[in-house]
Amino acid sequence: SDFSALGLNPLLSAHLSKKMDISKPTAVQRAALPTMLSTDPEVMERDIFIQSQTGSGKTLSFLLPIIQDLLPLSSLSYIDRSIGTLAIIIAPTRELAKQISDVLEGLLNLRLRAEAESADDANASRLTRWLVSGLLIGGATRTHEKARLRKGLPILVCTPGRLLDHLQNTASFNVAKCRWLVLDEADRLMELGFEESIKGILKGLEGHRRLALQALKEGIGKEVGGWDWDRRKRTIL
Ligand code: AMP
Repeated sequence: SDFSALGLNPLLSAHLSKKMDISKPTAVQRAALPTMLSTDPEVMERDIFIQSQTGSGKTLSFLLPIIQDLLPLSSLSYIDRSIGTLAIIIAPTRELAKQISDVLEGLLNLRLRAEAESADDANASRLTRWLVSGLLIGGATRTHEKARLRKGLPILVCTPGRLLDHLQNTASFNVAKCRWLVLDEADRLMELGFEESIKGILKGLEGHRRLALQALKEGIGKEVGGWDWDRRKRTIL
């Protein structure tokens, strides 16, 4: 399909089309997928800035490549659940975080169904037991969230304040192997005054592989919300 041509795993792309009736990538997806899926070290060392509008398909443009990137780790992590959190998506509001989390759960369920249809694929059935997502938006008690983090949440969707809180105060929150940090609607994150929280989060995630930044405004090439990103290498899409 058109998604496979962009490098998306055929199983994911087949089920996008069969179960979600999505078969033609949008412009932002065509731009984001090849870059986010690239294994070229020169590409991988760079942050990715993606500029897109609400309704343009931006959520899938980062969720699909992240899921695909984590798939090969599934057998390893099945053995070692203490691998911790591998991808973190930050959104400016609880509502947006919830929406992203719903799409993500849909995609992970979609994998479940895919596996049910190919029961001979032992690796695939392992994946679903392990690749779970969590939503941390301050709606639950800290104790409850801590317990979930201790068990291991490979993909997290969060609001910035609660994430920073856990990075600073939850000893069992393991982000040593975190590969992705997405700042969705980065311009709004800055407008809403989360700059200091984001800086704190970046400090706690020094080893992360990639920052994928989604923003709405023009001028993202230089800065987002007055925050100078110039010190990091980046690909602008
Ligand atoms: P978003 O911009 O991520 O909020 O997505 C807006 C809507 O477009 C959502 O309802 C998606 O399910 C839908 N969508 C995303 N990608 C595609 C696509 N390639 N083809 C058709 N619909 C899509």
